[in-house]
Amino acid sequence: MLQDSPDQAATRPEPVGEANAFERFAIAAEHIAATPKRLTKAAILGEYLTALADEDLRLAARYFAGSPFPLSDQRVLNVGGAALMNALQATSGVERSFLQAALVQQGDLGDVARQVLSEGSSPTLRLAEVEKSLAMLVETRGNKRKVEVIASLLQQATPLEAKYLIKLMTGDLRIGLREGAVEDAIARLAQEKVERIQWVNMLTGDIGEAAVLARHGQLDRAQMRLFHPIKFMLASPVDTFTEITSRMPAGFAVEDKYDGIRAQVHVAPVSDNADPLLHGVPQAGVRVALFSRTLDEITPAFPDLVEPLAGLPPETFGTGLILDGEIVPYRDGQILPFQALQKRLGRKTLPEDLLREVPVAFVAYDILYRDGQVLIEEPYQARQALLASLALNPPALLRARSQQFTDVAALDDEFQAARDRGNEGLMVKHLQSPYKPGKRGKDWLKVKRAIATLDVVVTAAEVGTGKRSRFLSDYTFAVRASEDDPTLLNVGKAYSGLTDAEVTELSNWFKAHTIEEFAHGRVRTVEPKVVLEVTFDRVQASKRHKGGYALRFPRILRIRDDKPPEDIDTLETVRKLAEP
Ligand code: AMP
Repeated sequence: MLQDSPDQAATRPEPVGEANAFERFAIAAEHIAATPKRLTKAAILGEYLTALADEDLRLAARYFAGSPFPLSDQRVLNVGGAALMNALQATSGVERSFLQAALVQQGDLGDVARQVLSEGSSPTLRLAEVEKSLAMLVETRGNKRKVEVIASLLQQATPLEAKYLIKLMTGDLRIGLREGAVEDAIARLAQEKVERIQWVNMLTGDIGEAAVLARHGQLDRAQMRLFHPIKFMLASPVDTFTEITSRMPAGFAVEDKYDGIRAQVHVAPVSDNADPLLHGVPQAGVRVALFSRTLDEITPAFPDLVEPLAGLPPETFGTGLILDGEIVPYRDGQILPFQALQKRLGRKTLPEDLLREVPVAFVAYDILYRDGQVLIEEPYQARQALLASLALNPPALLRARSQQFTDVAALDDEFQAARDRGNEGLMVKHLQSPYKPGKRGKDWLKVKRAIATLDVVVTAAEVGTGKRSRFLSDYTFAVRASEDDPTLLNVGKAYSGLTDAEVTELSNWFKAHTIEEFAHGRVRTVEPKVVLEVTFDRVQASKRHKGGYALRFPRILRIRDDKPPEDIDTLETVRKLAEP
């Protein structure tokens, strides 16, 4: 009863109304979701986008890429699953327990909305109205008010539209279409190379703008805009040094692998006609922004970095500067263990004494832009030479050590030295490699850590024992089936390693993000969003677990707020660790 009946699925609705009707967007999304074929998806998307006027094209391209606002825009919706559920309950009048059961069965609140809302009057929403409501939602303070705004939007929607409004608000349409596919469709329409669309999307931080420029043959006009995050280049793990030799026979660069928070720094003079929605904070005539690996702005969490960055000599940044690096806890010339930094994370306010107790430094290891020049296509060596010429001064601003080697024999000693400096291990980088935003390639290799760890996502939480009997403190966790297959496979359960404060916080979060309750709420399946780094005694084969492996004696090392669940480890890594 909770699923589309076969005939419903076969007779998908045909578009009605004008091109800018939100219903057309929803129908195109339905059609795209219904086919597994990439080319067919692209063709449907292309046909839909062609019919739109520029302003609507701008919005639809963003929405299909899964974001209500462009990356260049500091607005975030900040609506959680609980608020959406409340709004759906208010709009549909359906009981909470029914909605929860439907969510467990369907796995997507958008699908639940389509099922429980009734067909009312004909569709009236337009893309521009959706945009207005989303903008209003950003301005709305307080959970209760937010729920009202969402409910009033859902009331104007047909069940099909509501399905996609909810998906849009959760930031993922889940129709098997990624930003890359939207770039592809735009390229096809404009008969341009997809690389040009990607480039303009990166420069402007707005796929909507890229779409409009492409349509008018004006991609050349796109200019680098600062203060939106550029996707981070990622590293692949290596197990043996011979993999390094075969990949980089002519030599390679070695840096310490710092154990902190990945961050991208933007610095530029404040301009008079700056967009009010720009990320970052102005300080003494200089604007500074920091972005996390998940592309969220984290400037407010590091006021003690804003000041030194704004205080850089103006010739260091010229018209603007973008650096990539790591924020680490740092005192008296020493990098402190990551745990020290954890005290500062996830807090609403940062008292002065905490800032003094846990000082931080930004360790720059790459440079992406400086004074009008986009540097990401320059080879690693050239970028490093430029980085070395910048006046980055301790204690708040540091530059990563980068050494060149031709022989992997030196790496054992280097690894130990990096550990002795308080760092996690080594990063090996290809000397000629460009900076590839958003790519996890083999140009950056992370050298295996001394202790085996896995990044996993929590799928279920259970009430603990003793003093933790009031908290959800025992966590079942999973890895991904593979890089391409997001299916989660449980590999263990851990209950030690976190502080009481962390357990309290997680417990509250899991209560608010429960999918299904068992044993009167003592055991719950939860939204798979919280990423943990765990260590363990060893990996063993297990018949009880679907993936075939279980971790023996797992312990939680830390909560990885910086890592999205898409980036957790895969079953392949678990399998490798299980080998003797
Ligand atoms: P992981 O998070 O284990 O996949 O390792 C990749 C992460 O290592 C990056 O996202 C960075 O946060 C971190 N990292 C630390 N030091 C470096 C470095 N020198 N170069 C690049 N990434 C680094």
